[in-house]
Amino acid sequence: MEEQGGKAWLVLDAPLRKKAIREALFGGYWWFQSFPALALMLFKVRKGKTLNQLATATGMSESVLRDSVLAANAAARGEAPEPFGKSPGGRQVLDQGPFYACDISVDNPVFPLGALTLGGLRVDEHSGAALDEQGQPIAGLYAAGRTALGIPSHLYISGLSLADCVFSGRRAGAAVAQLTARQLQPTLASQVTS
Ligand SMILES: Cc1cc2nc3c(=O)[nH]c(=O)nc-3n(C[C@H](O)[C@H](O)[C@H](O)COP(=O)(O)OP(=O)(O)OC[C@H]3O[C@@H](n4cnc5c(N)ncnc54)[C@H](O)[C@@H]3O)c2cc1C
Repeated sequence: MEEQGGKAWLVLDAPLRKKAIREALFGGYWWFQSFPALALMLFKVRKGKTLNQLATATGMSESVLRDSVLAANAAARGEAPEPFGKSPGGRQVLDQGPFYACDISVDNPVFPLGALTLGGLRVDEHSGAALDEQGQPIAGLYAAGRTALGIPSHLYISGLSLADCVFSGRRAGAAVAQLTARQLQPTLASQVTS
């Protein structure tokens, strides 16, 4: 998506689409999660009996689509590295047509590709000060919000991001307040003395 001007397709084969529809209906999701997913899989979808037909239906290059699916399949079978960095549980062999392509482009009004910032800057874990390439604090620069904090190590649960934003904002604010107080103290002390 980042490399294609915001355009992206999610490719499923027939068994995976069936499984995904069943999960959206009976998997215990909230309606606001399952409705857009169902609309995407049922209405905003292109279909092809073969991968070549799917390429024609979507405007993708036949060879690029075929090579991408073959590479993903090889990774799902454990025969090659996973090209998109998917964890083993997220890998699926796509080899039973018809094949489907769901439009998950950023401008899709039904179900745009969800994107979240999860980490980015390296920070001092006690103060939130942004670190340079040598791991040294950059004077006067603090980070707060999602860019300041890392990737949830086990599960991503709704609320984690906002909680992390509150936590990291408070951490940076407290660090700056402490620093300011320390800088002011000598002045105040000398004023008091004089
Ligand atoms: C659809 C959706 C649902 C979500 N639901 C939840 C939820 O239920 N619970 C939860 O905890 N989290 C949820 N999140 C995640 C949460 O909203 C974000 O993680 C959080 O808002 C991040 O806050 P932030 O301050 O770090 O970054 P942002 O809110 O992204 O703020 C960054 C700001 O920087 C500005 N900016 C970017 N580049 C520049 C630049 N070069 N110059 C100047 N300004 C710039 C941006 O315009 C933006 O205003 C959801 C996110 C999405 C997208």
